[in-house]
Amino acid sequence: MGRIIGIDLGTTNSVCAYMDRNEPKIVINEEGGRITPSVVGFTKVGERFVGDIAKRQMLINPEATIHSVKRLMGRTFREAREGIRLVDYRVTAGPGGECLVDVAGRSYTPQEVSAMILQKIKKSAEDFLGEAVTEAVITVPAYFTDRQRQATRDAGTIAGLNVLRIINEPTAAALAYVHERGRASTIAVYDWGGGTFDISLLDVDRDVAEVRATRGNNALGGADIDDRIVEWLIDRFRSEHTIDVREDKIVMQRLRDAAERAKLELSAAPSTEVHLPFLVSDQHGPRHLQATLTRAAFEALAEPLFQKTIEECRKVLADAKIDPRDIDEVIMVGGSSRIPRVQQLVRELFGKALNKTFNPDEVVAIGAAIQGGMLEGEIKSVTLLDVTNFSLGIEIQGRRFAPLIPKNTTIPAQKSQLVSTVVDNQRTVKIHVLQGESLDARENVSLGEFELQDIQPGPRGVPRITVRFAIDANGIVNVSAKDQRSGVEHEISIDAPHGMSRVELERARDEASQQARVEEESKELKKLRQEVEQELVKLETFLRDRRGLLPKQDIFELEQALKRGRMALVKASADMKNLQSLLGYLQRFHAHLAEKVRQQARTH
Ligand code: AMP
Repeated sequence: MGRIIGIDLGTTNSVCAYMDRNEPKIVINEEGGRITPSVVGFTKVGERFVGDIAKRQMLINPEATIHSVKRLMGRTFREAREGIRLVDYRVTAGPGGECLVDVAGRSYTPQEVSAMILQKIKKSAEDFLGEAVTEAVITVPAYFTDRQRQATRDAGTIAGLNVLRIINEPTAAALAYVHERGRASTIAVYDWGGGTFDISLLDVDRDVAEVRATRGNNALGGADIDDRIVEWLIDRFRSEHTIDVREDKIVMQRLRDAAERAKLELSAAPSTEVHLPFLVSDQHGPRHLQATLTRAAFEALAEPLFQKTIEECRKVLADAKIDPRDIDEVIMVGGSSRIPRVQQLVRELFGKALNKTFNPDEVVAIGAAIQGGMLEGEIKSVTLLDVTNFSLGIEIQGRRFAPLIPKNTTIPAQKSQLVSTVVDNQRTVKIHVLQGESLDARENVSLGEFELQDIQPGPRGVPRITVRFAIDANGIVNVSAKDQRSGVEHEISIDAPHGMSRVELERARDEASQQARVEEESKELKKLRQEVEQELVKLETFLRDRRGLLPKQDIFELEQALKRGRMALVKASADMKNLQSLLGYLQRFHAHLAEKVRQQARTH
């Protein structure tokens, strides 16, 4: 087995870590950074960029710059409504109601876009480590549903990664804590990133990390805080200039960018200036936006969001029946946990100082790498006892929900349910699997429906079919059914109504790897063109400076070579082979002429 990398695939940023002689380390990406923005940018000519370069084009090309795609993963268009409101690119509903991202003339599933980010991370890891990387542990918010986990695993598959384990972000942070400390304690991991919030309570010691309870909100993150500031800025601008800028995508992107910058500054300073010159123009000329936002005003704007996270913390303590004073350590994870007011609220709730020894941006990836190290057998295993974050069950008569595996059950977990027929000689039984806490089936997340077929005919209520529901260590649901009378057993795949089929996945993976090859080749081609260009410039300089020392025939040949070189560079069809042989020829010719000139100088 090769080296296993740990990936924190974040809404805003992604981080990759690996184990180096028992110590977790961060992979430095191609741009020299420890963090890769989870942003994919498309250009008009079909080029694609991921990370910092893509983030930079967000301001000028918001419709072709895909960010926060994690908010769309494994969700229906209807479920993702809030996330879609915060982006400027086009999201549409696919045939099954799933989200599709429309960009650069085609539609991509969120899994395919996430795969582009993972491909970039894989490539950075390979370049940095100097070896092929195919195995990974990827983290997800504890509050991700089965569909969102499946979608994350599928994104890994499309990117050419074998996803050995999906682990919850807070559990990963706890593993980092165990690795560093290894002291028996009860810890709280408060994880607030760009798009999601999670709170988990765990009992840890040197050998075990046991999740006691977890709660969260998949649609509550730093982007929502930015949105509050954006609303405030829009109001200010409207009251000053009576202009509503909401419909202008570029203006909205500038406002979002400025709002995030203001928020970051307010984590360190008591007030900040928002200055956006030439925001819009009308018949009276350009209009500028100038505003001062104090920390107190910012806190008042965002307080309801802060309180939502504290409410979840209270609920999780109640779920686990733990008194806040019995928590030994509070670990803060995710960029939004840096906000001073948030830290104050968490400190007050738990009545103790926060543990700030871990880098909130990196600790999750570090934990994923540690999990990878355990799977490799490189470091001693810590038994991970994670829990289900939602109740899993089926729909029963009257559109009601019957939970089979309640939330906060330790995984892996399984439960069997006996089902039968309601009419004589019924040959099929339909089962609808759901995740959620509402007794009304329609309010929960549908994982899919399946039909048990070929049931042995018999009077109603007589057939006995055992349906087994299992949640594996990744939090992914598996279902199997056994007809007790015939003994026939079926492994049932739930037809995820919004997931990708195996065939679609394979097609997407082949396409992604083909695209990666094309991109790699085009990068190499660009580099080669530059080398040819440099060689031509050198030869032109050589000819200018040494013309008087060269025989006529050489001058003629050199001019011909320069012409051919220039022609090759403007030809779009020039391929690697042609350019390589041209470069070789130019270099050899240059060396030959230089030697001739040197010899001449010696004989004179
Ligand atoms: P993550 O998903 O953990 O990468 O967190 C990204 C989110 O954290 C974004 O919404 C950032 O704007 C936010 N963030 C990062 N640093 C800070 C900071 N110092 N203060 C407030 N928010 C921050």
